[in-house]
Amino acid sequence: MDLAAIVQQIGYDMAAAPHRGVVADYIPELKRVDPSQFGLAVMTADGQTYHCGDADVRFSIQSVSKVFTLALALGRMGDQLWTRVGREPSGHAFNSILQLETEHGIPRNPFINAGALVVTDAILAGHPPRETLGEILRFVRAAAGDDNIHINPDVAQSEEQTGHRNRALAHFLLANANLINPPELTCGTYFHQCAIEMTCLQLAQAGRFLMGGPNAPRLVSPERVRRLNALMMTCGHYDGSGEFAFRVGLPGKSGVGGGILAIVPGRASIAVWSPGLNERGNSQLGTLAIEHLARATGWSVFG
Ligand code: GLU
Repeated sequence: MDLAAIVQQIGYDMAAAPHRGVVADYIPELKRVDPSQFGLAVMTADGQTYHCGDADVRFSIQSVSKVFTLALALGRMGDQLWTRVGREPSGHAFNSILQLETEHGIPRNPFINAGALVVTDAILAGHPPRETLGEILRFVRAAAGDDNIHINPDVAQSEEQTGHRNRALAHFLLANANLINPPELTCGTYFHQCAIEMTCLQLAQAGRFLMGGPNAPRLVSPERVRRLNALMMTCGHYDGSGEFAFRVGLPGKSGVGGGILAIVPGRASIAVWSPGLNERGNSQLGTLAIEHLARATGWSVFG
């Protein structure tokens, strides 16, 4: 298999793609991003890197950060975290409050916003937000083996100014005794974690610990790697998770910045980015590119 040629071809195809989706506009700073961009980076277990397009342009990882905070929270408090958040796909939009009411403040999973707020709240646990953000950044940098990864303060501030739904979710969690810290602190920390910027090359590098196997960096136990992948597969694309599993067949986590991290267990870590989103809030071209890649390589967890 000529992976270099496959990746190059995807780059050409995506550059010519007519339907590029719509850039998220509910966070004003994200709305300014040029929708014509596309980047892809693939890192294989044997240490090879393949990339095309804008793979070295930084973008806002947004909800992809939730994979790293979940790994961190599980390392900190282990399975006890599951008393506060579930492990089922929600079938609802990423920022929905509906189920939180009927399910008594226990979010369906750690990748919808309500669940991610609980995870961030668990890591925060009385520490100053600055310290917790330092810890999150250290984890991401260690995973990527690259210290040049930072939070974009303008994106964080933009979400601070507009993140009323997330605040509503946090208050709702508090009303159900499922928030430890003041909502402002948990939300502030969450907004900043979402504003971490990375390139596709850095993100693919940071995702290698999720490949598992003898060549992957060992940041968490193999059992936890399997579980993180299971959650990415079932819940990583919000109410589009079933469609992504059907079309791509790989665990993946998307963000409204247009990034997707996908894992081929034992074989590769893939990061793709294109800012235009489909109707479910997942990258339009990013999804298409990983679908092409999975088809051309035969990569799928379903054989
Ligand atoms: N910061 C975004 C929010 O909370 C993240 C959403 C996403 O990437 O899906 O609305």
